[in-house]
Amino acid sequence: MGKPTGFLEFPRRDRSYAPVNERLNNYKEFVRPLPEDELRLQGARCMDCGVPYCHQGCPVNNIIPEWNDLVHTGAHRTALEILHQTNNFPDFTGRVCPAPCEAACTLNLVEEPVTIKTIEHAIIERGWEEGWVQPQIAAHRTGKRVAVIGSGPAGLAAAQQLARAGHMVAVYEKAARIGGLLRYGIPDFKMEKHVIDRRIAQMRSEGVEFHPNTHIGVNMPVDRLLREYDAIVLAIGAEAPRTLPVPGHDLEGVHFAMEFLPQQNKRVSGEKVTEREILATGRDVLVIGGGDTGSDCIGTSNRQKANSVAQLEIMPMPPEHEDKLSTWPYWPLKLRTSSSHEEGCEREFAVATKAFTGENGRVTGLDAVRVAWGKGADGRMAMQEVPGSAFHIKADLVLLAMGFVAPVHGGVLEQLEIALDARGNVKATDIDYLTSHKNVFVAGDARRGQSLVVWAIREGRQCARAVDEALMGRSELPR
Ligand SMILES: Cc1cc2nc3c(=O)[nH]c(=O)nc-3n(C[C@H](O)[C@H](O)[C@H](O)COP(=O)(O)OP(=O)(O)OC[C@H]3O[C@@H](n4cnc5c(N)ncnc54)[C@H](O)[C@@H]3O)c2cc1C
Ligand code: SF4
Repeated sequence: MGKPTGFLEFPRRDRSYAPVNERLNNYKEFVRPLPEDELRLQGARCMDCGVPYCHQGCPVNNIIPEWNDLVHTGAHRTALEILHQTNNFPDFTGRVCPAPCEAACTLNLVEEPVTIKTIEHAIIERGWEEGWVQPQIAAHRTGKRVAVIGSGPAGLAAAQQLARAGHMVAVYEKAARIGGLLRYGIPDFKMEKHVIDRRIAQMRSEGVEFHPNTHIGVNMPVDRLLREYDAIVLAIGAEAPRTLPVPGHDLEGVHFAMEFLPQQNKRVSGEKVTEREILATGRDVLVIGGGDTGSDCIGTSNRQKANSVAQLEIMPMPPEHEDKLSTWPYWPLKLRTSSSHEEGCEREFAVATKAFTGENGRVTGLDAVRVAWGKGADGRMAMQEVPGSAFHIKADLVLLAMGFVAPVHGGVLEQLEIALDARGNVKATDIDYLTSHKNVFVAGDARRGQSLVVWAIREGRQCARAVDEALMGRSELPR
């Protein structure tokens, strides 16, 4: 701990954003990094607690106090080495992680937390600028072959770890480009895609093979992988969206968020949009559902110059501030206003959709009702419609962003006859990551359900260790 009184001397400062009118004119990242001298002061705010709750709060258990101190003293290269010990892709998490570590920071109890995510981002970007991020090529080859199905953060983390353990690794991806939701879900204004491309180049140098446009279970049977590989990792995500089966849901202009968002990511990267184009330009857009996906629809609609953007959430508005003494060090329920909300959006809470209305087959609006939430007879939260509260909202583009229920059950899962858990995810523990099928493992959203990039990285890393142990009888990969 370089500066024992840092937290008393320096207030929290974080990265700023480009002004709204500037950032809405393009799809580029708009977060402005902290200058080096300020970054060092922010590192000095870390109290190096005896029990670092941030480390527990971070799903990959980043060794945060160590690198906070190293940044404070200017030892960025060592900070990067320590960061890479626990996180394969701090460039992804430093951009899109909601930072549960900061909620868990001890300083957050009485003050504002250390700007952990900003420091993480600065360490890795400095690493790339200085050429410190190099392929880590395995010294010995094991002769074992592993196929990873799916190239999101879970698949990429598993593949990188397994290649570094000396296995021959091939990643199969149904989409045209590698990256999963990092590539096609998360918009460029949150994470530009060259950030994925440079990691793919690193992984290729480490020996990982990539096979895009290969839909396992559809245009390549999984049997072939079972014959050719010693182990398979399923990292297929949780792609089945939650539906809203009310009258009018099949009208033209009502779309799932993941029909809308990938198209814009493709346009930005110059990839051809082969599906029928969905654009918010000039439209009254209604986003149903909160969360990251809903926010991304708002930010994208505003960049496409929508006429208006509104968001409906069925849950009541959470409190503006959490009661830290009862929620710390856990992730608190509180009102979260994303950068996309700030760019322009009307938000309504405790509203349920009754039906979509339309003319000539196209959506024109939505009939809604206000709901009140309270504890039902069984003690669970339940909602009741507020009598006389029905109202109508005009909309000619509706984006459904109510989350994802499970992985898609047909195709590869059906062919493998994989056992599912009660929620419809692939059944496996977070100890051995082994499915009901011999030599087939699972990681990421496909196992834990819809989650976060940082959790997918954790699962990919831990699954890689489990695979390595199963193949070799022992493993030196970290858990
Ligand atoms: C719009 C959106 C925004 C998000 N924003 C954030 C955010 O800001 N921060 C955050 O932490 N999390 C965010 N998330 C969640 C996060 O992206 C996911 O939790 C994470 O990507 C899950 O990683 P994964 O590797 O398990 O699956 P995915 O990223 O879903 O990757 C699965 C991959 O498997 C491929 N695949 C599936 N089946 C097959 C098959 N049979 N053959 C070949 N390939 C197959 C898919 O094409 C896909 O590329 C967001 C999610 C969405 C939808
Ligand atoms: S990965 Fe997320 S939780 Fe972990 S240190 Fe980075 S921002 Fe915090």
